[in-house]
Amino acid sequence: MSEVRTRFAPSPTGYMHIGNLRTALYTYIIAKKYGGKFILRIEDTDQERYVEGAVDTIYRTLRAVGLNWDEGPDVGGDYGPYVQSERMGIFKKYAIELVEKGGAYYCFCDKDRLTELKAVQEAAGISPMYDRHCRNLSKEEIQAKLDAGTPYVIRQKIPLEGTTTFHDELFGDITVENSTLDDQILLKADGMPTYNFANVVDDHLMGITHVVRGNEYLASAPKYNLLYEAFGWEVPKYIHVAPIMKDKHNKLSKRNGDASFEDLVAKGYLSEAIINYIALLGWAPKGEREIFSLPELIEEFEIDGLSKSPAIFDPLKLRAINGEYIRALSPEKFAEYAEPYIRQVVRSDVDTAKIAALLQNRTEVFSEIPEQVDFIDEMPDYDLSLYENKKMKTNRETAVDALTRALPVLEAISESEWNFQVLHDRLFELIAEMGVKNGYVLWSLRVAISGKQFTPGGAFEIAEIIGRDETLKRIHRSLEMLAVSIA
Ligand code: GLU
Repeated sequence: MSEVRTRFAPSPTGYMHIGNLRTALYTYIIAKKYGGKFILRIEDTDQERYVEGAVDTIYRTLRAVGLNWDEGPDVGGDYGPYVQSERMGIFKKYAIELVEKGGAYYCFCDKDRLTELKAVQEAAGISPMYDRHCRNLSKEEIQAKLDAGTPYVIRQKIPLEGTTTFHDELFGDITVENSTLDDQILLKADGMPTYNFANVVDDHLMGITHVVRGNEYLASAPKYNLLYEAFGWEVPKYIHVAPIMKDKHNKLSKRNGDASFEDLVAKGYLSEAIINYIALLGWAPKGEREIFSLPELIEEFEIDGLSKSPAIFDPLKLRAINGEYIRALSPEKFAEYAEPYIRQVVRSDVDTAKIAALLQNRTEVFSEIPEQVDFIDEMPDYDLSLYENKKMKTNRETAVDALTRALPVLEAISESEWNFQVLHDRLFELIAEMGVKNGYVLWSLRVAISGKQFTPGGAFEIAEIIGRDETLKRIHRSLEMLAVSIA
């Protein structure tokens, strides 16, 4: 087999849809699995859709997830240029060559005629198709119009009869009647190619062996095959992948807020976790295992594990996978990622690494960190019913008892001794002395200094983090509130 060469050919639309990222991922994996090359080609010929900075988003995203290209606009290669708009001369040359080979023809129909044609066809209930008006112009007629400078497009000359079959690695052989295929435009009046033409020419010239793309292109594939045949070029292997859906009926779109890679990163998902999850959206590994690094994906991936049916994006599953990646981080790395999220709500001079240590096992998405640590800087207003806990057998009265007993014990601990171990030992001495369950003291204490039902870490950790003064101050305040409510 000749060297495998795959390409990712995004249009610069301004953001990376995760469906596109998944296409890039499968494309990359196939190249690497077979020791081949992964090529990046920017398809920017649709100037109306061009968005400033969009190419940088593509570079940034692919690099962030480790899909490094072997050839592309910024890294070069032997098959450039890799930006479609820089290849304009090439397309015109090949379009004219195709006319000479009998696979295409000049069309001089103007807008008015085409608009009218479309209206007539629609009124008659037939799907609009070019009526091949210019298909049989004589050589002389064509030359005369060209000489007169009449604007023209070049159209594909689809065989009038018979069928065309193409092969997809996933969907198998697909056959269509040629009579259903439109003589589509290959080269527009402004000399720009349509996607339908450019993708074939570029894939051929860049030596692409495997084309991976969304199955919205499946219906056009027969026309591409006819182009390859008319040129006498070898057809690449096609792998059309099914879309990613929000649910049974709706595609995942940017409006859902989950569809773009950058949105997910901003929500606190790790790029490794995103890649791992989207690999599973449409591809099933052989065993039960679901956590794969990029090199492991290359190892495990098989084209026949791809699914023909749409995949449903499951945010809970993504969370769970993200949680696994978070737990697998070293404490230092986790603290580094968590720091900006902690700092959104904690501005005081506390040790964020200590807070991070409490969060690692209970975080699935970084963006949920602020709400977990928002009590550290400032004690929230809280409902005193939090002291009523059936399991711990506590209520407001027991809270007053526990806090009143704990207060002198805590006050006796000096600033320099104030740490988890000392707090733990002294309070356990008190618990033993009182002959009560741990929760009797510790539940009330934790509520009194956090004002929350759930917190990362228990009373000792929180007391250590917020410090001696703040702990004592919060206990006094809570005792006052309890006194008022009981009286
Ligand atoms: N530029 C096309 C897109 O972004 C590429 C399709 C293809 O991979 O051939 O949808």
